[in-house]
Amino acid sequence: MREFVMSDNFTIKIRRQDGPDAKPYWQEFEVNFRPGMNVVIALQDIRRDPVTIDGVKADPVVWECSCLEEVCGSCAMVINGRARQACSALIEDLDRPVTLEPLAKFPVVRDLMVDRSSLFENFARVRAWIPIDGTYPMGPGPQVSQEEQEAAYPLARCITCGCCLAACPQVNNNSSFMGAAVLNQATLLNSYPTGRMNRAARLDVVRGDGGLAGCGNAQNCERVCPKSIPLVSSIARLNREALLDAVKRWLGK
Ligand code: SF4
Repeated sequence: MREFVMSDNFTIKIRRQDGPDAKPYWQEFEVNFRPGMNVVIALQDIRRDPVTIDGVKADPVVWECSCLEEVCGSCAMVINGRARQACSALIEDLDRPVTLEPLAKFPVVRDLMVDRSSLFENFARVRAWIPIDGTYPMGPGPQVSQEEQEAAYPLARCITCGCCLAACPQVNNNSSFMGAAVLNQATLLNSYPTGRMNRAARLDVVRGDGGLAGCGNAQNCERVCPKSIPLVSSIARLNREALLDAVKRWLGK
């Protein structure tokens, strides 16, 4: 890859879609390179003057972003064929032309903005939260040791970007597989003293439709996860836990 200089322009190809049911099409834009610019900055440049390289005035490109520091997960998209965050994708590190597509496996709202509701609905299915709501004081939660915190932290870094689902061959229109992010959250909460309150219900869900049996062990999830979460071992751990729990229940223990 040739290094950029200040005066370089580069091309961005964007897969566009005017609405959820509209036909996708491609447009190309020329963008002026500046050192340190990322894909979000390039998209902002295009939005300021959305004219294609053929000189056609285009609608501003729609995409989501918020924190710009790989924490919120909202700017996830497919960049040069790989699901990742636009904020941490530096132009100088990418092959050109740069190709942008909406995150696969999620319905397109418009252009690069997708509807990730299915991810959050599956989080709800596995009760991926600590229940603290109540009309009365619930008292202090259980103590969590330093060791338990350190063990849980690597699994707790999920930013719900959806990249692991986008890269997973088992997440598709013919499957109800909920994907690595959701299963990992179940592992995390089952390992946590407060989260364990819902452990049995959570294990029932991951043993059911769309749960653990849907994983084909492709391991793409771990390769694309921007937070380097050990998703493969997390799912394996949940698998063992679910199996052991089923055997114990069968034996009446
Ligand atoms: Fe994104 Fe990783 Fe969370 Fe999947 S597990 S949603 S890739 S941060």
